[in-house]
Amino acid sequence: MAPELLRALEEQQERFLAELEELVALETPSDDMHALDSFAETLAARLKSIDDGRVDLIRNEANGPHVRAEWGEDSDDQPVLLLGHYDTVWPLGTIDRLPFRTTDRRAYGPGILDMKAGLLQALWAIRIYRQRGGNRPLVLVVTSDEEIGSESSRSLIEAEARRCSRALVLEPALDDGRLKTSRRGLARYRINVTGRASHSGLAPDAGVNAIDELCEQLQRIEQLADPAQETAVNVGVIEGGTRFNVVPASASCEVGVRVKTHAEASRIASSLSRLRPRHEGASVEVRGGPLWPPMELTPATADLARQASALADDLGFELGAGHAGGASDACHCAAVGSPVLDGLGAVGGGAHAEDEHIRLSEIPRRIALLVRLLETARPADEGAPPIQTASAT
Ligand SMILES: [Zn+2]
Repeated sequence: MAPELLRALEEQQERFLAELEELVALETPSDDMHALDSFAETLAARLKSIDDGRVDLIRNEANGPHVRAEWGEDSDDQPVLLLGHYDTVWPLGTIDRLPFRTTDRRAYGPGILDMKAGLLQALWAIRIYRQRGGNRPLVLVVTSDEEIGSESSRSLIEAEARRCSRALVLEPALDDGRLKTSRRGLARYRINVTGRASHSGLAPDAGVNAIDELCEQLQRIEQLADPAQETAVNVGVIEGGTRFNVVPASASCEVGVRVKTHAEASRIASSLSRLRPRHEGASVEVRGGPLWPPMELTPATADLARQASALADDLGFELGAGHAGGASDACHCAAVGSPVLDGLGAVGGGAHAEDEHIRLSEIPRRIALLVRLLETARPADEGAPPIQTASAT
């Protein structure tokens, strides 16, 4: 039955691509409320049309609405969570410069890999799962702010992950198609340095140079990186001073820190909290903290990955799992103890880059895999799902 499912999906490629083109054309930069709102309305309408999905738009002051949809009868089974985001890193109008196009068995377009194609694959998987008689409770959450830190969606994601038996996350796969079972976390810190302004010619000694102070602090901050542990420190923004002839009274920078383990996250946080000024009269303030905690591989997640791999075997393709250097909302699911499989979305390359694309041949496989993952999911209290699946019926 599974190869039949795959064949049916292969025959519907044109229709999938037509729907995908519409989603890509509806641009969704994370900071454009109007654009986000109209995409959310479109998505909600599509979700309602999938077997009477019960859909809510969860509005918030900071960002566009988050979209939550539910299927399945009321039962004691814990729902399965499907999770994605619909915002992209691309500003409005990018579509005019980089229009949707297919060539060489690939489809291109802004946000197509991260993650409009993954979202559409999930919609198709839910529809097919329901058509095949699946009726376990499903919750789909699609947020509007993942590309800017998930601050307005975090509590929603955590709450849903807590009450669901597992989270299936629709971020792109690793470049070679593997799933993502661990991720580095990402923290954002802002360092504010205050000095004292003065005339740099007449009274330089009356001033305290905030830029000098910040530069010394940066040297210490960059030393917190530890390549052996994959802990990376990126000073991404710096600003300070007013004029070339004034001793600068203020300077600041923004630092992104990526860590593979909770232990490293704590080490960085405590080191930064101990920064003290080197120059008399200067002060140093550290703000910020983790946006996403690291997602460390757990036995429950490894079990899920083995199950997915067995299902892929049945469908006729190989599927491994690995580590991703970037963070995603899967990290929030893992942080509340949910077994989580990430990278279930599209396969391609160039996320956040001009050549962002998906590989067309992977679309049917990924949809079919999601359908089978929904069909074989078991409530958490029945223990880990079986590694061997009976010949995909
Ligand atoms: Zn993404």
